[in-house]
Amino acid sequence: MQLHSIRTVLCPHCQCTEVVGEGVKISRSTAFGREIRQHVNGRKWEYRNFLCGYGVEFSPNAGRDEVAARCSKDPEILERNAKRKAAHDKLLSIIADFDDLDDEYQSTLHQEIASTKWHFE
Ligand SMILES: [Zn+2]
Repeated sequence: MQLHSIRTVLCPHCQCTEVVGEGVKISRSTAFGREIRQHVNGRKWEYRNFLCGYGVEFSPNAGRDEVAARCSKDPEILERNAKRKAAHDKLLSIIADFDDLDDEYQSTLHQEIASTKWHFE
C-alpha cells in the first residue's frame, strides 16, 4: 500500500528502519460496512510500526506524524523501567525482612508481584 502522508522512516532512538507493519486505519463498522478513515481534508490516518517497537501515526488533524508506540531504547522508557525495577526490588527486600512470615504467604506475595501488569523489561 502506498502511504501518502506519513514521513517517519526510522526510529529516532535506535535508528531502526525495519518496518513490520504499515497501512491506513479502518473505520468502525457502519451501516455501509468497513471503510478507510478519511478526514474531511482528504487525508487518511496512516500508521507505521518498526521492529524495535516504535510506532507512529499520521494525524490528519495535526498534519504530522505522532508517536503511537515507544521504542524499548527510548531514554524515558529506560528511566521508567529502572524506577520500576528499583520499586520491584525494594518490595522483594521488604518481604524478605519478614523472616518469620509463613512460606505460603511469602510465596503468595512473590506471585502477586511477579504477575503485576506493568513489567520493567
Ligand atoms: Zn527504536
